[in-house]
Amino acid sequence: MIDDLPVFEWPDWYRPSKSRPRQNSAVARGLHPMGMRLAANSEKCSSCAFLVLKKRAGRWYKCTKTRMAGSVQTDIRLRWAACELWKAEPCGD
Ligand code: SF4
Repeated sequence: MIDDLPVFEWPDWYRPSKSRPRQNSAVARGLHPMGMRLAANSEKCSSCAFLVLKKRAGRWYKCTKTRMAGSVQTDIRLRWAACELWKAEPCGD
């Protein structure tokens, strides 16, 4: 019966979207939405040195370590768990 099938539970740091099928697929396979392995820490993309804010008619966060295009497919969400490439932001001293 269909009721016996396991229900996939998305991690609490990821909200699936129909407009991001590639990212949904990566997270469903246990990866970061951009396809890298997840970091072995509790950091988020929001604290990463490779995160950049692009401003034009709107505001989008992108990652300089991945493909950057004018598409939602390359947008980064601040709440996402960090990937294996995560690097601490340099200290502002
Ligand atoms: S390198 Fe990884 S952790 Fe850092 S912003 Fe890019 S995707 Fe997020």
